[in-house]
Amino acid sequence: MADEPMLKFVRVDQDYPDKREADARIADFAEISARYAGGKAEEQASRCSQCGVPYCATHCPLHNHIPDWLRLTTEGRLREAYELSNATSTMPEICGRICPQDRLCEGNCVIEFAGHGAVTIGSVEKYITDTAWEQGWVEPVQVGPERGQSVGVVGAGPAGLTVAELMRARGYDVHVYDRHDRAGGLLTYGIPGFKLEKPVVMRRVQRLIDAGIVFHQGFEVGRDATLAELCERHDAVLIATGVYKPRAIKAPGVGATGIVEALDYLTASNRKNFGDAVPAFDEGLLDAKGKKVVVIGGGDTAMDCVRTAIRQGAESVRCLYRRDRANMPGSQRETKNAEEEGVEFVWLSAPEAFDGEGSVAGVRAIKMRLGEPDASGRRTPEADPGSEFRLEADLVIKALGFDPEDLPVMFGAPELSVTRWGTLRVDHRTMQTSVEGVFAAGDIVRGASLVVWAIRDGRDVAERMHKYLREKAKAAAANKVAA
Ligand code: FAD
Ligand code: SF4
Ligand code: SF4
Repeated sequence: MADEPMLKFVRVDQDYPDKREADARIADFAEISARYAGGKAEEQASRCSQCGVPYCATHCPLHNHIPDWLRLTTEGRLREAYELSNATSTMPEICGRICPQDRLCEGNCVIEFAGHGAVTIGSVEKYITDTAWEQGWVEPVQVGPERGQSVGVVGAGPAGLTVAELMRARGYDVHVYDRHDRAGGLLTYGIPGFKLEKPVVMRRVQRLIDAGIVFHQGFEVGRDATLAELCERHDAVLIATGVYKPRAIKAPGVGATGIVEALDYLTASNRKNFGDAVPAFDEGLLDAKGKKVVVIGGGDTAMDCVRTAIRQGAESVRCLYRRDRANMPGSQRETKNAEEEGVEFVWLSAPEAFDGEGSVAGVRAIKMRLGEPDASGRRTPEADPGSEFRLEADLVIKALGFDPEDLPVMFGAPELSVTRWGTLRVDHRTMQTSVEGVFAAGDIVRGASLVVWAIRDGRDVAERMHKYLREKAKAAAANKVAA
């Protein structure tokens, strides 16, 4: 049809928003991608072929109504596009920025399979919600009639914030407890500004404060209250504390000064960008400026570390990873960004020891070769005898991933059941833990995962928690009548 606004993928090429040149972007911590301008989002959205069975949406953990908001975008009905995308997500502009779209929505777009390049779904999602914020279309949370029941949320990351918003909207009193001084979890202190600028997170938090959600920052469950005490205070509790125990490297010399944990390093950098005083950074330990940096690991955390070190003015930045590029867990997009910015990858290499007098001076490593695939399908690395080598380093950042902390011990709650990986065990029908009325969501259930999955869990928990609390209120009313 001549007037069909969609299905333009044959005539219109895939076009992501411009990335700033590497030289310019390493000079600051601002996001590297520009936003679509001048009708570009509308044009790119028009490439969608409006599939009857949209695989993009099936592979989006939130099952966003992608083809529908793409069509609305093409038609210039941006406010409706925003409202539709907002209906399934509490943070569409954040997912648009940091979802690994190549593994989720875009990686499953039929146009990609047909060789035309996926519709740039994430960039359009970011565009419509950023426009909504600018135009004042992002409404305050519509708080339902007060129910007189109270919810305690432990952890102010994307899972906790999602439950907080959706339960407040249903009329519950909501209190959020977090051990950090700012809300946002890893959105605030883990993920660097060049992927996600902090005002984007803070305006979401402010919207929740404006809705009457009470934030107790600097409140650590386990230190400032036990789980049982929180259960006394609230009618239902959510645990969304994420995973924070860093995986260790067992190698001689690993305790030397100058060998640091990835999250300590990233948190310090994010705090500096907020303008905070951070003694370990200010005194030099967590600052890569002028240093020879080696980052160990091949996941997204390692990519964030190498790119942060480049921006801090490191003399050199190398990433040591025991598998090859094809078998790394981190996003290929981020690896490419890192290479453009001057990071050197030392593939198929693992540390054996760290040398130096008190402070680290070098990493002694060995080359690896890949053996048979393991249970996860990735090929197992094996040391290649006789291939030892040394890299000079005066800052080594360990980025090998995270495990859950021991919550039953920390929270004084031995009745809290955990899996053999230490993640919280939940009944997937009710989303409750082994303690009645205590729900769980996000990384503490899944292990280290993604923001979009934390939001999805939060959405599911809010629905189940609402049902639980309605039944609890009904039972309480019936008991009162009976008495
Ligand atoms: P978190 O975001 O970890 O939030 C948990 C909160 O609980 C924190 O604020 C913490 O302070 C608080 N808390 C913990 N224990 C207690 C306690 N005892 N008392 C009170 N509060 C407590 N995902 C993506 O989708 N895209 C990315 O690009 C991406 N990049 C990442 C980069 C890094 C460096 C890291 C570490 C992760 C990245 N992730 C990314 C993963 C993503 O950040 C997580 O999957 C997501 O934040 C999990 O959300 P959550 O709400 O479960 O936990
Ligand atoms: Fe894609 Fe993530 Fe947006 Fe879903 S939430 S449409 S996976 S960018
Ligand atoms: Fe459009 Fe691609 Fe989704 Fe099909 S799979 S609806 S073409 S974005």
